[in-house]
Amino acid sequence: MAIIDLININYCYGAGTPFEKQALRNVSLSVAPGDYIGIIGHTGSGKSTLIRHFNGLLRPNSGHVLINGKDIWAKPSLIRSIRFQIGLVFQYPETQIFEDTVAADVSYGPRNMGLSKEGIDLRVHDALQFVGLDDSYLGRNPFRLSGGEMRRVAIAGVIAMKPQALILDEPTAGLDPEGRHMILEQIERFRRESGTAVILVSHSMEDIAEHAKHVIVLDQGRIALSGTTTAIFNQAEQLVHLGLDIPQITKVLLELKKKGYPVNTGATTIDDA
Ligand code: ADP
Repeated sequence: MAIIDLININYCYGAGTPFEKQALRNVSLSVAPGDYIGIIGHTGSGKSTLIRHFNGLLRPNSGHVLINGKDIWAKPSLIRSIRFQIGLVFQYPETQIFEDTVAADVSYGPRNMGLSKEGIDLRVHDALQFVGLDDSYLGRNPFRLSGGEMRRVAIAGVIAMKPQALILDEPTAGLDPEGRHMILEQIERFRRESGTAVILVSHSMEDIAEHAKHVIVLDQGRIALSGTTTAIFNQAEQLVHLGLDIPQITKVLLELKKKGYPVNTGATTIDDA
């Protein structure tokens, strides 16, 4: 069964005011355990609005959000439990760190889930391991860590809730290439080992192409394209038409070609000399 089903979602900011903005139009999609879905689209295409529907942060004007088959808006008491099942990591998640030790910060979610002390400690240990931090970090002050380490602590706090789906909005923004690579590798390992579905929103098509198995392209609040990663990047002309960055598309196609995927180079000039 799917973890998340969105059925014909429409969302409008400021409905009925002069500033009304239709941000999502008839969006339907399904997320199954272990999926790795990349969401791309130019600025303002609706990516942030879309992911805020996955765990009830935004309520659609029409359509249905089903989590494990249940319509979350049919019974508002479902919303609280859904926040533990669907983990959302916002851009610059380190800005949401507020406890004065790493242990307290990462355990915040599990402490609110009715687990035993041992259960909480185990969750914290495992989550830190997934982001490459050992137990020597437990007593440290998160605000004294490097930017990359703080980011990893914040992600560990969401992983510690063992969500069924992990949704990340630009998780690598502002990191150097090594930090970016490390975080994406850790997320991929977490997905593989836990079966958690991952949904990655990124401006970096290279990151999406390297990790996601399925790609959704948003345009003006609609799903313009949806398919396997290779199928989507093979529609280079369409992607350019949707306002996506040509040099990035070219790089992605080159990478896919290097890895031996069938790549349609007819539509774009690929300089692979
Ligand atoms: P993206 O994440 O792809 O950049 P968003 O989901 O942030 O896109 O925005 C989709 C559309 O909704 C844009 O036109 C944006 O200007 C508008 N929008 C986003 N947030 C708000 C808001 N709080 N109030 C009004 N309009 C908004």
